[in-house]
Amino acid sequence: MARPRTTLVVQKTIRLTDHMIRVYLGGPGFAAFQPNEFTDAYVKLVFPGSDGETVRTYTVRSIDHAAQEIAIDFVYHGDEGVAGPWAAAAAPGDTIELMGPGGAYAPRPDADWHLLAGDDSALPAIAAACAALPAGAVGHVFLEIGGPADELAIETPAGVQLTWLHRGDAAPGEKLAAAVRAEPWREGQVHVFIHGEAQAVMHELRPYIRKERGVPAEWASSISGYWRRGRTEEGFRRWKSELAEKEQAARSAV
Ligand SMILES: Cc1cc2nc3c(=O)[nH]c(=O)nc-3n(C[C@H](O)[C@H](O)[C@H](O)COP(=O)(O)OP(=O)(O)OC[C@H]3O[C@@H](n4cnc5c(N)ncnc54)[C@H](O)[C@@H]3O)c2cc1C
Repeated sequence: MARPRTTLVVQKTIRLTDHMIRVYLGGPGFAAFQPNEFTDAYVKLVFPGSDGETVRTYTVRSIDHAAQEIAIDFVYHGDEGVAGPWAAAAAPGDTIELMGPGGAYAPRPDADWHLLAGDDSALPAIAAACAALPAGAVGHVFLEIGGPADELAIETPAGVQLTWLHRGDAAPGEKLAAAVRAEPWREGQVHVFIHGEAQAVMHELRPYIRKERGVPAEWASSISGYWRRGRTEEGFRRWKSELAEKEQAARSAV
């Protein structure tokens, strides 16, 4: 089914940190925006260009029904790319077309514990998930960001530990993968949400969770890359389909 499309207007922007920009989008097009039940609800932003449209994927960080606006938190990863620089330059009155929302995950109340891990790109989805965890939830949240100045205020229930990992000069996802692996595994049924740089997530963390820890797909379906180092989103999509083909070929060969 085609995703609903609407055009929203920039209401205001806030520089949360040097590397994270919150953009509030609203206007008459908000009436056509249909929220879903997922904490990782995401939209496809459409950027017009001289050689066609460029599409980028972003999490809906929050929805304010009274103000009729949504907030999106953009990682500002430098001058490269389309969406990051757009957010840095966005001003009230600018318009953006979006499709969606889609989504796949919300913390399951029947889980014994929760494991959430990600980098800056997954921080909005993880923050939204933390806000939806029941008061008695237990678990661990790992967030890898550039450095101490990139930390944001995120509320977690008392039983859910939040660990910030400062990337510094390390490769994206390296510290995240090491920290998740080093965490003592808990008893009981875990519900997992892990997203971030694709190499680290798909080649380090997904095999660890699914194969080494044996977490079945129904409790660990939300593990994937949100971006790929050195590739634009188009290049990342190609990387994903190549990986899926390789995995399919490996399964068929068994
Ligand atoms: C379901 C989903 C939800 C997402 N939600 C968010 C969100 O809420 N906020 C958010 O910021 N991102 C989010 N992302 C990731 C975002 O779609 C990508 O980071 C996207 O590539 C950014 O587009 P761009 O035009 O800025 O850069 P692109 O043109 O895609 O890439 C240009 C260059 O920048 C690099 N790059 C891209 N993203 C990053 C990054 N995060 N850090 C460092 N370098 C990068 C690329 O490797 C490339 O070299 C999400 C992705 C998915 C799949």
